[in-house]
Amino acid sequence: MKKLSGKTALITGASSGIGRATALLFAEQGANVVAVARREHELQALINDITSAGGHAVAYAGDVSHEDTARAVVEFAQKSFGALHIAVNNAGTLGAARPIEDLSVSDWAHTLNTNLGSAFLGAKYQIPALRAAGGGSLVFVSSFVGYTVGLPGMSAYAASKAGIIGLTKALASECAPSHIRVNALLPGGTDTPMGQEATATPEARAFVEHLHALKRLAQPQEIAKSALYLASDDSSFSTGIALLADGGVSISRT
Ligand code: NDP
Repeated sequence: MKKLSGKTALITGASSGIGRATALLFAEQGANVVAVARREHELQALINDITSAGGHAVAYAGDVSHEDTARAVVEFAQKSFGALHIAVNNAGTLGAARPIEDLSVSDWAHTLNTNLGSAFLGAKYQIPALRAAGGGSLVFVSSFVGYTVGLPGMSAYAASKAGIIGLTKALASECAPSHIRVNALLPGGTDTPMGQEATATPEARAFVEHLHALKRLAQPQEIAKSALYLASDDSSFSTGIALLADGGVSISRT
């Protein structure tokens, strides 16, 4: 039995990595997928993969840190499939990774706007749509960085991801009467273009793998399964949680 039959799911950052894997899995599980990111060509390749496997998906190319995009994608989802039931706000950037004294105000603003500003804007327009559908599930992709682990040079990224957890908890309480569950997903190191950027040399890759109890990075499909858990009725009694899918990076001391 498919877990998302009859549901429409908006997924940001769907052109790559975790978002792409989530879009493929949700479509396989019967969802109508609305895929959002800036790169049109990559989105089109995703739509082709989904439709050639018999699924349903449409793409919207835009920058999720812009209010116009946040509003337009929700209208696009409603127009394309009639209603919106699920949103996975996954788009994000590592941003500039450097010591605080070398971080410019614009570096800070770029990371905060892309990761946390887009989460706020997503919620602002997605929640009324979920309410109109009678309820739903909202997922924000945060990180272990800034929650259970501090890493040098990552202040803007950590602040943006920790902010997402606060946003999640407030919205979970605000939206529960409308039958909307709101949860954060906290992946560990994941083998995506972003994960590869953070582990660019063999030494850096080995170091980051070793930080995890499982001594490896996740495949994006593994994180997508946790997104499916949060998006679907399998997590029907969970709201306001920060779900670690982190390969034990938060508890490992070996
Ligand atoms: P990728 O770099 O593979 O994907 C990032 C996605 O975000 C792309 O689809 C990109 O699309 C999109 N994106 C970035 N900025 C914008 C923007 N302004 N507007 C619209 N889309 C945007 O990274 P991951 O798949 O690894 O990351 C997904 C999420 O998981 C991120 O939030 C990240 O912080 C989080 N995460 C990742 C970890 C990892 O180790 N990989 C660990 C913990 C959390 P496009 O360029 O086409 O716009």
